[in-house]
Amino acid sequence: MTADFAFEITARNGRARRGRMQLAHGVVDTPAFMPVGTRGAVKGITMAQLNDLGASIMLSNTYHLHVRPGDESIARAGGLHAFAGWTKPILTDSGGFQVFSLSGRRKLSEEGVVFQSHLDGSDHFLSPEVAADIQARLGSDIAMVFDECTAWPVTHEEAGAAMQRTLRWARRARDRFQALGDGRVPDLPRATPGQAQFGIIQGSTFKDLRDASVAGTIAVGFEGYAIGGLSVGEPSEAMYDIAGHTAEQLPEASPRYLMGAGTPVDLLEAVARGIDMFDCVLPTRNARNGQLFTRRGPISIKNARYADDLAPPDPDCTCPTCRAHSRAYLRHLFQAGEMASGILNTVHNLHFYLDTMAGIRKAIEFGIYEEFMKAFLQTYSEANQ
Ligand SMILES: [Zn+2]
Repeated sequence: MTADFAFEITARNGRARRGRMQLAHGVVDTPAFMPVGTRGAVKGITMAQLNDLGASIMLSNTYHLHVRPGDESIARAGGLHAFAGWTKPILTDSGGFQVFSLSGRRKLSEEGVVFQSHLDGSDHFLSPEVAADIQARLGSDIAMVFDECTAWPVTHEEAGAAMQRTLRWARRARDRFQALGDGRVPDLPRATPGQAQFGIIQGSTFKDLRDASVAGTIAVGFEGYAIGGLSVGEPSEAMYDIAGHTAEQLPEASPRYLMGAGTPVDLLEAVARGIDMFDCVLPTRNARNGQLFTRRGPISIKNARYADDLAPPDPDCTCPTCRAHSRAYLRHLFQAGEMASGILNTVHNLHFYLDTMAGIRKAIEFGIYEEFMKAFLQTYSEANQ
């Protein structure tokens, strides 16, 4: 355990957990949603807006920040917190997912992956050690191990090989992380001395592979555990089933993070199965495409039916967008291509996600999570007026 990391479960309801995670830059109440700031910014909004929305942690991306502006440049600025002007916790993913998405532009070996930058085609190398070093320079509160991600569907054989390699890489990532923490890499001081590191469980939708991955990753030992390789196109039921099957084998005392999920319904279903942390581009990406999440399900603001609709996007929402603006106005902004469209839609969607998580936390505290979830799903599936 690193000195600045602690996780405490404050309430349980069924398999749902309400927790409190202490990180180097502050406390994160769980279950938590992490807005995605891939390149050190959440698309469409400023850090001040992200802070006002009540986000307690932001996710950024190792791969993207490594290729631009470069982690050494960010380290010289004092780390990602100082560089981006974000004082709360940051989790950095390892870049594994991005590198393995670059099929055709990468070369995989046991040592690591050589890949070409999506920006200028220049060659780069990522390995468990290099990914740990980059994240030490970025100074995130939580660093992720470098893993091999498989697409879906995938054969048992391919998923097994990727999972085994991820296990071997987990050992190397942890060794390097500990060397960095012990000051055994003198020319590379961590930008955040109290950084924590999470392992990643792989194995696609095969339970026997997930079981082996859990056992092997726990044997290495991390501050927290992520479930990777889901939310990559498999049916929702398979995702819930594997997430639940995996979560129940992970240590009770450690946080559990379901990577890349998901829709509001996915979040509720996963919390019910013992997941504590989430990240997803849906609220921000869909905002820019004109989709607003509401308590009565998603709406497409570009639809002609909203041309004269003077109601707020979500009548039950207390966000700055809903307090000040109508559907008709937001539709107009979208149609006119105004920059404010993406900004206002992003503010609403992130507020909706963060507010949903706050409701989830309260429901677990009060011991009414099942009822909360049932009522939410009932309203969410109603047709929007
Ligand atoms: Zn709103």
